[in-house]
Amino acid sequence: MITDHLIAVYDRPVPRYTSYPTAPHFHEGVDAGVMADWLRGLAPEAPLSLYLHVPFCQQMCWYCGCNTQIVARHKPIADFADTLLAEIARIGDMLKAAGHQRIVSSIHFGGGTPNSLDADEFERIMAALAHHFALEPDLDLAIELDPRTVSDEFLAAMRRVGVNRASLGVQDFDPVVQAAVNRVQPFDLVKECVAKLRANGIRSLNLDLIYGLPFQSVSGLRRTVAQAVELAPDRIALFGYAHVPWMKPHQRLLDEASLPDAYARFRQFEAAAQALAAADYARIGLDHFAKPGDALRVARDNHTLKRNFQGYTVDRADALIGFGPSAISALPQGYIQNAPDHAPWARAVSEGRLAVVKGVAVTDEDRRRRAIIEQIMCYGTVDLAAFQFDPALAMPALWPLIEDGLVHLNGSNLTVTERGLPFQRVVAAAFDAYLAPENKRHSRAV
Ligand code: SF4
Repeated sequence: MITDHLIAVYDRPVPRYTSYPTAPHFHEGVDAGVMADWLRGLAPEAPLSLYLHVPFCQQMCWYCGCNTQIVARHKPIADFADTLLAEIARIGDMLKAAGHQRIVSSIHFGGGTPNSLDADEFERIMAALAHHFALEPDLDLAIELDPRTVSDEFLAAMRRVGVNRASLGVQDFDPVVQAAVNRVQPFDLVKECVAKLRANGIRSLNLDLIYGLPFQSVSGLRRTVAQAVELAPDRIALFGYAHVPWMKPHQRLLDEASLPDAYARFRQFEAAAQALAAADYARIGLDHFAKPGDALRVARDNHTLKRNFQGYTVDRADALIGFGPSAISALPQGYIQNAPDHAPWARAVSEGRLAVVKGVAVTDEDRRRRAIIEQIMCYGTVDLAAFQFDPALAMPALWPLIEDGLVHLNGSNLTVTERGLPFQRVVAAAFDAYLAPENKRHSRAV
Protein backbone atom coordinates (compact mmCIF):
# COMPACT_ATOMS: atom_id res chain seq x y z
CA MET A 1 0.00 0.00 0.00
CA ILE A 2 1.47 3.36 -1.06
CA THR A 3 0.95 5.85 1.73
CA ASP A 4 1.23 9.62 1.94
CA HIS A 5 4.35 8.99 4.05
CA LEU A 6 6.06 7.07 1.23
CA ILE A 7 5.17 9.69 -1.36
CA ALA A 8 6.26 12.52 0.94
CA VAL A 9 9.61 10.85 1.60
CA TYR A 10 10.44 9.23 -1.74
CA ASP A 11 8.79 11.34 -4.44
CA ARG A 12 11.98 13.34 -4.87
CA PRO A 13 14.09 14.40 -7.84
CA VAL A 14 16.08 11.43 -9.15
CA PRO A 15 17.60 10.65 -12.55
CA ARG A 16 15.87 8.39 -15.06
CA TYR A 17 19.15 6.45 -15.42
CA THR A 18 19.27 6.27 -19.19
CA SER A 19 23.02 6.65 -18.63
CA TYR A 20 25.45 6.40 -15.74
CA PRO A 21 27.09 8.75 -14.91
CA THR A 22 24.03 10.84 -15.76
CA ALA A 23 24.01 13.88 -18.06
CA PRO A 24 24.48 16.57 -15.33
CA HIS A 25 27.96 15.08 -14.77
CA PHE A 26 29.07 15.57 -18.37
CA HIS A 27 31.85 18.19 -18.61
CA GLU A 28 33.75 20.13 -21.26
CA GLY A 29 36.94 18.14 -20.68
CA VAL A 30 35.51 15.56 -23.07
CA ASP A 31 35.82 17.35 -26.40
CA ALA A 32 36.03 16.61 -30.12
CA GLY A 33 39.60 15.32 -29.75
CA VAL A 34 38.53 12.84 -27.09
CA MET A 35 35.61 11.66 -29.22
CA ALA A 36 37.91 11.16 -32.21
CA ASP A 37 40.24 9.05 -30.04
CA TRP A 38 37.34 7.03 -28.69
CA LEU A 39 35.94 6.40 -32.20
CA ARG A 40 39.39 5.27 -33.38
CA GLY A 41 39.58 2.97 -30.34
CA LEU A 42 36.39 1.05 -31.17
CA ALA A 43 36.80 -2.65 -31.96
CA PRO A 44 36.62 -2.77 -35.81
CA GLU A 45 34.02 -5.52 -35.92
CA ALA A 46 31.82 -4.13 -33.12
CA PRO A 47 28.29 -3.43 -34.41
CA LEU A 48 27.05 0.13 -34.11
CA SER A 49 23.74 1.66 -33.26
CA LEU A 50 22.92 5.11 -34.68
CA TYR A 51 20.64 7.81 -33.26
CA LEU A 52 19.62 10.82 -35.36
CA HIS A 53 17.99 13.78 -33.62
CA VAL A 54 15.65 15.94 -35.71
CA PRO A 55 15.04 19.05 -33.58
CA PHE A 56 11.99 20.60 -35.25
CA CYS A 57 8.25 20.64 -34.63
CA GLN A 58 5.36 22.58 -36.14
CA GLN A 59 3.76 23.55 -32.84
CA MET A 60 4.91 23.46 -29.22
CA CYS A 61 3.21 20.97 -26.92
CA TRP A 62 3.23 22.73 -23.59
CA TYR A 63 4.36 19.65 -21.66
CA CYS A 64 7.34 19.11 -23.99
CA GLY A 65 10.65 18.24 -22.37
CA CYS A 66 12.52 17.52 -25.62
CA ASN A 67 15.20 19.46 -27.44
CA THR A 68 13.22 21.00 -30.28
CA GLN A 69 12.33 24.29 -31.95
CA ILE A 70 9.21 25.47 -33.71
CA VAL A 71 9.61 26.50 -37.32
CA ALA A 72 7.02 27.95 -39.66
CA ARG A 73 9.09 27.56 -42.85
CA HIS A 74 10.84 24.54 -44.28
CA LYS A 75 14.16 26.25 -45.10
CA PRO A 76 15.79 25.67 -41.65
CA ILE A 77 14.83 22.00 -41.88
CA ALA A 78 16.30 21.68 -45.38
CA ASP A 79 19.54 23.31 -44.12
CA PHE A 80 19.54 20.94 -41.16
CA ALA A 81 19.21 17.93 -43.48
CA ASP A 82 22.25 19.08 -45.49
CA THR A 83 24.29 19.53 -42.29
CA LEU A 84 23.20 16.12 -41.04
CA LEU A 85 24.43 14.58 -44.32
CA ALA A 86 27.80 16.24 -43.72
CA GLU A 87 27.96 14.95 -40.13
CA ILE A 88 27.15 11.41 -41.29
CA ALA A 89 29.91 11.61 -43.91
CA ARG A 90 32.41 13.04 -41.41
CA ILE A 91 31.92 10.32 -38.80
CA GLY A 92 31.63 7.55 -41.41
CA ASP A 93 34.92 8.67 -42.98
CA MET A 94 36.66 8.83 -39.59
CA LEU A 95 35.61 5.29 -38.78
CA LYS A 96 36.59 4.08 -42.24
CA ALA A 97 40.05 5.65 -41.89
CA ALA A 98 40.41 3.86 -38.54
CA GLY A 99 39.68 0.52 -40.24
CA HIS A 100 36.27 0.10 -38.62
CA GLN A 101 33.84 -2.18 -40.46
CA ARG A 102 30.96 0.22 -39.65
CA ILE A 103 28.36 -2.53 -39.31
CA VAL A 104 25.09 -1.01 -38.13
CA SER A 105 22.42 -3.12 -36.46
CA SER A 106 20.04 -0.40 -35.38
CA ILE A 107 19.02 3.13 -36.41
CA HIS A 108 16.63 5.35 -34.49
CA PHE A 109 15.23 8.71 -35.66
CA GLY A 110 14.05 10.79 -32.71
CA GLY A 111 13.23 14.37 -31.97
CA GLY A 112 11.54 16.78 -32.10
CA THR A 113 9.55 15.37 -34.95
CA PRO A 114 11.53 13.31 -37.49
CA ASN A 115 8.68 13.61 -39.97
CA SER A 116 9.40 17.34 -40.09
CA LEU A 117 11.84 16.22 -42.77
CA ASP A 118 10.24 15.86 -46.16
CA ALA A 119 10.23 12.49 -47.90
CA ASP A 120 13.15 13.35 -50.17
CA GLU A 121 15.32 14.58 -47.29
CA PHE A 122 14.55 11.47 -45.27
CA GLU A 123 15.49 9.19 -48.18
CA ARG A 124 18.70 11.13 -48.82
CA ILE A 125 19.68 10.75 -45.17
CA MET A 126 19.01 7.01 -45.32
CA ALA A 127 21.01 6.77 -48.57
CA ALA A 128 23.94 8.55 -46.87
CA LEU A 129 23.76 6.15 -43.94
CA ALA A 130 23.74 3.19 -46.35
CA HIS A 131 26.73 4.69 -48.20
CA HIS A 132 28.90 5.43 -45.15
CA PHE A 133 27.92 2.43 -43.04
CA ALA A 134 27.22 -1.28 -43.64
CA LEU A 135 23.56 -1.64 -42.71
CA GLU A 136 22.69 -5.16 -41.59
CA PRO A 137 19.99 -6.89 -43.68
CA ASP A 138 17.77 -7.29 -40.61
CA LEU A 139 18.37 -3.69 -39.53
CA ASP A 140 16.14 -2.41 -36.75
CA LEU A 141 14.99 0.90 -38.25
CA ALA A 142 12.80 2.94 -35.93
CA ILE A 143 11.24 6.41 -36.10
CA GLU A 144 9.24 8.65 -33.80
CA LEU A 145 6.27 10.23 -35.57
CA ASP A 146 3.72 12.94 -34.95
CA PRO A 147 0.43 11.45 -36.19
CA ARG A 148 -0.92 14.96 -36.90
CA THR A 149 1.68 15.71 -39.53
CA VAL A 150 2.84 12.44 -41.11
CA SER A 151 2.10 12.65 -44.85
CA ASP A 152 1.36 9.86 -47.30
CA GLU A 153 4.59 10.79 -49.15
CA PHE A 154 6.59 10.37 -45.95
CA LEU A 155 4.92 7.01 -45.23
CA ALA A 156 5.82 5.84 -48.74
CA ALA A 157 9.44 6.93 -48.17
CA MET A 158 9.49 5.03 -44.88
CA ARG A 159 8.32 1.90 -46.71
CA ARG A 160 10.93 2.31 -49.45
CA VAL A 161 13.85 2.61 -47.00
CA GLY A 162 12.57 -0.22 -44.80
CA VAL A 163 11.43 1.48 -41.58
CA ASN A 164 10.05 -1.35 -39.47
CA ARG A 165 9.33 0.26 -36.09
CA ALA A 166 7.38 3.40 -35.33
CA SER A 167 6.45 5.26 -32.19
CA LEU A 168 3.53 7.67 -32.01
CA GLY A 169 3.13 10.40 -29.41
CA VAL A 170 -0.42 10.14 -28.04
CA GLN A 171 -0.26 11.28 -24.37
CA ASP A 172 -4.03 11.23 -23.70
CA PHE A 173 -7.11 10.89 -25.91
CA ASP A 174 -9.29 13.15 -23.75
CA PRO A 175 -10.07 16.34 -25.75
CA VAL A 176 -10.00 18.44 -22.56
CA VAL A 177 -6.49 17.26 -21.71
CA GLN A 178 -5.38 17.66 -25.32
CA ALA A 179 -6.61 21.25 -25.41
CA ALA A 180 -4.94 22.01 -22.07
CA VAL A 181 -1.54 20.85 -23.34
CA ASN A 182 -1.87 22.43 -26.81
CA ARG A 183 -1.81 19.14 -28.67
CA VAL A 184 -5.15 18.29 -30.25
CA GLN A 185 -5.22 14.97 -32.10
CA PRO A 186 -8.55 13.13 -32.07
CA PHE A 187 -8.65 9.35 -31.63
CA ASP A 188 -9.79 8.80 -35.23
CA LEU A 189 -6.75 10.69 -36.53
CA VAL A 190 -4.41 8.40 -34.56
CA LYS A 191 -6.40 5.33 -35.63
CA GLU A 192 -6.07 6.26 -39.28
CA CYS A 193 -2.34 6.87 -38.86
CA VAL A 194 -1.90 3.45 -37.22
CA ALA A 195 -3.71 1.75 -40.11
CA LYS A 196 -1.50 3.53 -42.64
CA LEU A 197 1.66 2.59 -40.74
CA ARG A 198 0.67 -1.07 -40.73
CA ALA A 199 -0.09 -0.88 -44.46
CA ASN A 200 3.38 0.55 -45.00
CA GLY A 201 5.46 -2.18 -43.42
CA ILE A 202 5.57 -1.24 -39.73
CA ARG A 203 5.88 -4.51 -37.83
CA SER A 204 6.29 -3.01 -34.37
CA LEU A 205 4.26 -0.07 -33.12
CA ASN A 206 4.69 1.86 -29.88
CA LEU A 207 2.33 4.45 -28.41
CA ASP A 208 3.57 6.98 -25.84
CA LEU A 209 1.09 7.92 -23.11
CA ILE A 210 1.68 10.45 -20.33
CA TYR A 211 0.11 10.72 -16.87
CA GLY A 212 0.31 13.70 -14.53
CA LEU A 213 -0.92 16.22 -17.14
CA PRO A 214 -3.49 18.94 -16.43
CA PHE A 215 -7.06 17.69 -15.99
CA GLN A 216 -6.08 14.02 -16.13
CA SER A 217 -7.92 11.69 -13.78
CA VAL A 218 -7.95 8.00 -12.95
CA SER A 219 -11.14 7.39 -14.95
CA GLY A 220 -9.80 9.46 -17.86
CA LEU A 221 -6.53 7.50 -17.90
CA ARG A 222 -8.51 4.24 -17.95
CA ARG A 223 -10.46 5.48 -20.98
CA THR A 224 -7.26 6.52 -22.74
CA VAL A 225 -5.66 3.13 -22.06
CA ALA A 226 -8.78 1.34 -23.39
CA GLN A 227 -8.60 3.39 -26.58
CA ALA A 228 -4.86 2.78 -26.92
CA VAL A 229 -5.38 -0.96 -26.46
CA GLU A 230 -8.08 -0.88 -29.16
CA LEU A 231 -5.32 0.11 -31.59
CA ALA A 232 -3.34 -3.02 -30.55
CA PRO A 233 0.14 -1.49 -30.39
CA ASP A 234 2.96 -3.89 -29.58
CA ARG A 235 4.19 -1.59 -26.82
CA ILE A 236 2.87 1.25 -24.74
CA ALA A 237 5.16 3.59 -22.83
CA LEU A 238 3.55 5.32 -19.86
CA PHE A 239 5.65 8.28 -18.80
CA GLY A 240 5.08 10.66 -15.89
CA TYR A 241 4.90 14.28 -16.97
CA ALA A 242 8.04 16.06 -15.75
CA HIS A 243 7.15 19.62 -14.74
CA VAL A 244 10.45 21.50 -14.92
CA PRO A 245 9.46 25.06 -15.96
CA TRP A 246 12.82 26.41 -14.77
CA MET A 247 14.38 24.34 -17.59
CA LYS A 248 11.48 24.42 -20.08
CA PRO A 249 9.83 27.86 -19.78
CA HIS A 250 6.96 26.99 -22.19
CA GLN A 251 5.67 24.62 -19.47
CA ARG A 252 4.55 27.80 -17.65
CA LEU A 253 1.76 27.97 -20.23
CA LEU A 254 0.14 24.99 -18.51
CA ASP A 255 -2.43 25.75 -15.84
CA GLU A 256 -0.43 24.67 -12.77
CA ALA A 257 -3.55 24.59 -10.62
CA SER A 258 -4.91 21.78 -12.80
CA LEU A 259 -1.81 19.58 -12.42
CA PRO A 260 -2.44 16.50 -10.26
CA ASP A 261 -0.50 16.25 -6.98
CA ALA A 262 1.94 13.43 -6.24
CA TYR A 263 -0.70 11.15 -4.75
CA ALA A 264 -3.04 11.67 -7.73
CA ARG A 265 -0.14 10.98 -10.12
CA PHE A 266 0.55 7.73 -8.36
CA ARG A 267 -3.12 6.69 -8.55
CA GLN A 268 -3.18 7.53 -12.26
CA PHE A 269 -0.12 5.43 -12.98
CA GLU A 270 -1.44 2.55 -10.93
CA ALA A 271 -4.85 2.64 -12.67
CA ALA A 272 -3.28 2.77 -16.13
CA ALA A 273 -0.82 -0.02 -15.29
CA GLN A 274 -3.64 -2.23 -14.00
CA ALA A 275 -5.71 -1.60 -17.13
CA LEU A 276 -2.72 -2.49 -19.28
CA ALA A 277 -2.04 -5.67 -17.30
CA ALA A 278 -5.68 -6.67 -17.73
CA ALA A 279 -5.22 -6.28 -21.50
CA ASP A 280 -2.16 -8.62 -21.35
CA TYR A 281 0.47 -5.90 -21.62
CA ALA A 282 3.28 -7.00 -19.31
CA ARG A 283 5.15 -4.32 -17.43
CA ILE A 284 8.74 -3.90 -18.60
CA GLY A 285 10.92 -2.06 -16.13
CA LEU A 286 9.75 1.31 -14.96
CA ASP A 287 7.30 2.51 -17.56
CA HIS A 288 6.94 0.21 -20.60
CA PHE A 289 4.22 -2.35 -21.29
CA ALA A 290 4.46 -4.98 -24.00
CA LYS A 291 2.21 -7.52 -25.68
CA PRO A 292 3.18 -11.22 -25.78
CA GLY A 293 5.80 -11.77 -28.48
CA ASP A 294 7.07 -8.17 -28.41
CA ALA A 295 10.88 -8.01 -28.50
CA LEU A 296 11.09 -6.05 -25.23
CA ARG A 297 8.99 -8.67 -23.46
CA VAL A 298 11.08 -11.49 -24.93
CA ALA A 299 14.26 -9.67 -23.85
CA ARG A 300 12.90 -9.25 -20.34
CA ASP A 301 12.14 -12.97 -20.17
CA ASN A 302 15.58 -13.88 -21.63
CA HIS A 303 17.31 -11.43 -19.32
CA THR A 304 18.80 -9.50 -22.25
CA LEU A 305 16.91 -6.23 -21.70
CA LYS A 306 19.05 -3.06 -21.77
CA ARG A 307 18.52 0.59 -20.94
CA ASN A 308 20.00 3.48 -22.92
CA PHE A 309 19.05 6.99 -24.04
CA GLN A 310 16.02 5.66 -25.87
CA GLY A 311 14.80 4.01 -22.64
CA TYR A 312 14.33 0.24 -22.57
CA THR A 313 15.84 -1.46 -25.58
CA VAL A 314 16.91 -4.78 -27.07
CA ASP A 315 19.83 -3.08 -28.81
CA ARG A 316 23.02 -5.08 -28.22
CA ALA A 317 25.44 -2.84 -30.13
CA ASP A 318 28.64 -1.91 -28.28
CA ALA A 319 28.54 1.70 -29.39
CA LEU A 320 25.73 4.18 -29.96
CA ILE A 321 26.65 7.15 -32.13
CA GLY A 322 24.44 10.24 -32.00
CA PHE A 323 23.95 12.71 -34.87
CA GLY A 324 22.25 16.11 -34.75
CA PRO A 325 21.99 18.84 -32.09
CA SER A 326 22.00 17.55 -28.49
CA ALA A 327 22.46 13.91 -29.60
CA ILE A 328 24.41 11.77 -27.15
CA SER A 329 26.83 9.04 -28.14
CA ALA A 330 27.45 6.15 -25.76
CA LEU A 331 30.81 4.55 -26.52
CA PRO A 332 32.56 1.88 -24.47
CA GLN A 333 34.95 4.58 -23.20
CA GLY A 334 32.26 7.08 -22.15
CA TYR A 335 29.46 9.44 -23.15
CA ILE A 336 29.65 12.41 -25.50
CA GLN A 337 27.04 15.07 -26.24
CA ASN A 338 26.71 17.26 -29.32
CA ALA A 339 26.02 20.99 -29.03
CA PRO A 340 22.37 21.29 -27.96
CA ASP A 341 21.59 24.34 -30.09
CA HIS A 342 21.25 24.15 -33.82
CA ALA A 343 23.57 27.03 -34.79
CA PRO A 344 26.75 25.89 -32.96
CA TRP A 345 26.14 22.31 -34.03
CA ALA A 346 25.77 23.37 -37.69
CA ARG A 347 28.82 25.66 -37.48
CA ALA A 348 31.03 22.87 -36.11
CA VAL A 349 29.90 20.40 -38.76
CA SER A 350 30.29 22.92 -41.61
CA GLU A 351 33.85 23.61 -40.41
CA GLY A 352 34.62 19.91 -40.55
CA ARG A 353 34.71 19.46 -36.78
CA LEU A 354 32.88 17.04 -34.51
CA ALA A 355 30.10 19.05 -32.82
CA VAL A 356 30.95 17.79 -29.32
CA VAL A 357 30.49 20.09 -26.32
CA LYS A 358 30.78 17.78 -23.35
CA GLY A 359 30.85 14.23 -22.10
CA VAL A 360 32.26 11.98 -19.43
CA ALA A 361 34.71 9.09 -19.41
CA VAL A 362 33.38 5.96 -17.71
CA THR A 363 35.63 4.37 -15.09
CA ASP A 364 35.61 0.71 -14.07
CA GLU A 365 33.81 1.73 -10.87
CA ASP A 366 31.19 3.56 -12.98
CA ARG A 367 30.73 0.41 -15.11
CA ARG A 368 30.13 -1.70 -12.04
CA ARG A 369 27.58 0.74 -10.61
CA ARG A 370 26.01 1.23 -14.06
CA ALA A 371 25.48 -2.51 -14.41
CA ILE A 372 23.83 -2.66 -10.97
CA ILE A 373 21.60 0.34 -11.75
CA GLU A 374 20.64 -1.18 -15.11
CA GLN A 375 19.64 -4.46 -13.42
CA ILE A 376 17.46 -2.57 -10.95
CA MET A 377 15.87 -0.43 -13.68
CA CYS A 378 15.28 -3.43 -15.99
CA TYR A 379 14.40 -6.22 -13.57
CA GLY A 380 13.94 -4.77 -10.09
CA THR A 381 16.47 -7.25 -8.73
CA VAL A 382 20.23 -7.65 -8.67
CA ASP A 383 22.82 -9.94 -7.13
CA LEU A 384 25.39 -7.43 -5.90
CA ALA A 385 28.00 -10.18 -5.47
CA ALA A 386 27.93 -10.75 -9.25
CA PHE A 387 29.41 -7.25 -9.56
CA GLN A 388 31.84 -7.62 -6.63
CA PHE A 389 29.86 -4.91 -4.84
CA ASP A 390 29.81 -4.89 -1.06
CA PRO A 391 26.21 -4.05 0.05
CA ALA A 392 27.68 -2.19 3.03
CA LEU A 393 28.80 0.56 0.63
CA ALA A 394 25.18 1.41 -0.22
CA MET A 395 23.70 0.77 3.23
CA PRO A 396 23.30 4.43 4.29
CA ALA A 397 21.00 4.97 1.30
CA LEU A 398 19.45 1.49 1.33
CA TRP A 399 18.60 1.24 5.00
CA PRO A 400 15.56 3.58 4.96
CA LEU A 401 14.28 1.79 1.83
CA ILE A 402 14.56 -1.55 3.61
CA GLU A 403 12.83 -0.19 6.71
CA ASP A 404 9.98 1.19 4.60
CA GLY A 405 9.57 -2.15 2.80
CA LEU A 406 10.60 -0.89 -0.63
CA VAL A 407 13.45 -3.38 -1.02
CA HIS A 408 14.56 -6.71 0.42
CA LEU A 409 18.22 -7.42 0.93
CA ASN A 410 18.97 -11.09 1.40
CA GLY A 411 22.74 -11.55 1.58
CA SER A 412 23.90 -9.89 -1.62
CA ASN A 413 20.52 -10.24 -3.38
CA LEU A 414 18.60 -7.02 -3.60
CA THR A 415 14.96 -7.08 -4.75
CA VAL A 416 12.56 -4.20 -5.21
CA THR A 417 9.26 -5.17 -3.57
CA GLU A 418 5.80 -4.64 -5.08
CA ARG A 419 5.51 -1.66 -2.77
CA GLY A 420 8.85 -0.31 -3.95
CA LEU A 421 8.14 -0.60 -7.70
CA PRO A 422 6.93 3.01 -8.09
CA PHE A 423 10.21 4.09 -6.48
CA GLN A 424 12.54 1.99 -8.64
CA ARG A 425 14.56 5.09 -9.58
CA VAL A 426 15.04 5.93 -5.90
CA VAL A 427 16.37 2.40 -5.30
CA ALA A 428 18.73 2.75 -8.28
CA ALA A 429 19.88 6.10 -6.87
CA ALA A 430 21.22 4.28 -3.79
CA PHE A 431 24.04 3.06 -6.08
CA ASP A 432 24.70 6.44 -7.70
CA ALA A 433 28.03 7.66 -6.35
CA TYR A 434 27.57 11.10 -7.95
CA LEU A 435 24.14 12.03 -6.65
CA ALA A 436 24.07 15.15 -4.52
CA PRO A 437 21.31 15.25 -1.92
CA GLU A 438 18.15 17.01 -3.08
CA ASN A 439 19.40 17.42 -6.62
CA LYS A 440 16.70 19.55 -8.24
CA ARG A 441 17.84 19.05 -11.80
CA HIS A 442 16.01 15.74 -12.15
CA SER A 443 12.31 15.01 -12.40
CA ARG A 444 10.29 13.59 -9.51
CA ALA A 445 10.32 9.84 -8.84
CA VAL A 446 6.59 9.10 -9.37
S1 SF4 B 1 5.79 16.93 -30.91
FE1 SF4 B 1 7.10 16.05 -29.29
S2 SF4 B 1 9.06 17.11 -29.47
FE2 SF4 B 1 7.54 18.33 -30.61
S3 SF4 B 1 6.81 19.88 -29.18
FE3 SF4 B 1 5.42 18.12 -29.05
S4 SF4 B 1 6.24 16.84 -27.38
FE4 SF4 B 1 7.85 18.28 -28.00
